[in-house]
Amino acid sequence: MKTRILVGAAGLLLVFYLLPPTPTTTPVEKYHLAMGTVVRLAIYAHEDDASELFELAANELDRIDSLMSRFSSASEVNAINRLAADRPVAVSGDMARVLTRSLWFARLTGGAFDPTLGALTGLWGFPDARVPPGDAQIDSALALTGHAQLELAENRVRFLRRGMGLDLGAAAKGYAVDRTVDLLEAAGVEAGLVEAGGDIRFWGDKPDGSDWRFGVQHPRQRDDLVVVDGPKIRALATSGDYERVFEYDGRIYHHLLDPTTGHPARRAVSATVWAETAMDADILATAVFVMGPEAAVELIESTPKTETLIFYMEAGRLEQRTSSGLRGHTRTTQRSEE
Ligand code: ADP
Ligand code: MG
Repeated sequence: MKTRILVGAAGLLLVFYLLPPTPTTTPVEKYHLAMGTVVRLAIYAHEDDASELFELAANELDRIDSLMSRFSSASEVNAINRLAADRPVAVSGDMARVLTRSLWFARLTGGAFDPTLGALTGLWGFPDARVPPGDAQIDSALALTGHAQLELAENRVRFLRRGMGLDLGAAAKGYAVDRTVDLLEAAGVEAGLVEAGGDIRFWGDKPDGSDWRFGVQHPRQRDDLVVVDGPKIRALATSGDYERVFEYDGRIYHHLLDPTTGHPARRAVSATVWAETAMDADILATAVFVMGPEAAVELIESTPKTETLIFYMEAGRLEQRTSSGLRGHTRTTQRSEE
């Protein structure tokens, strides 16, 4: 009796899987505005299920956005920034995870990535900045930064100096991508991709058997892509000096700040990092950008399951460097040819 039910169930399943008239070899796609950028959702799922799945994903993106955004006064990050100099503030599970990882990487990168730059990034005021702040202002803001001045214990955070602030702009987008991917995977979507402003994570195998391949935007030639074959790492993120910029007195200023100088970091032009999660890739791309090619490649070589491609200027020329896992696996092509 038992066996018959099993056989029956298996037979039914077989029919079910053979029935759909259009196997989903092309993904169903949707765009959603969150985290200050356009988020692309591409899933290999049946059309009938897609709208419900997209709604699930959009709600999750909005939820993370409302926790981590510096631009919404009601966000958890801004509540922490208001209160955490007075007393330890209990944080959400999401916030605890992002802060724990952020502190880990702040230490690993010697502070090149620092989640406590709020006072400094507030002073610069990207994306609306038009004039660089003066040196005295930068020095005062810098005195109110530093990951060593952030205490995190038992899901409570505290600032050791008044006037400090969190800025999770280099980690939150990646975290939102990770959460969305986890959610869609748990909902049974076997393969897909989530991208938020250059932070990408994908999962599963494409139904047509082809590999997942990504082109990295060439930082100076808009029409060129650097195509990277391999690595079999599921997330990547890019930080570039061409994203949020203004020109003042003949000089370009961008939003990736060097925590030691308080000014835009000048050692790189763009940095892409591959890692196991989008949050790690997001954080490391910012760190690699700030550190510059030598220190960055050293860091990435000693961090398991990460790779990097970094563009930088040397003697007036644009140069590229990669970690050893990518050597021989990059080529530049025209966007139109891909
Ligand atoms: P994007 O958001 O443009 O993809 P990033 O992921 O590199 O770029 O994040 C940049 C944002 O992170 C900045 O807008 C700022 O809020 C914050 N930030 C800037 N410099 C640093 C830094 N050295 N460490 C941590 N966060 C930074
Ligand atoms: Mg980043």
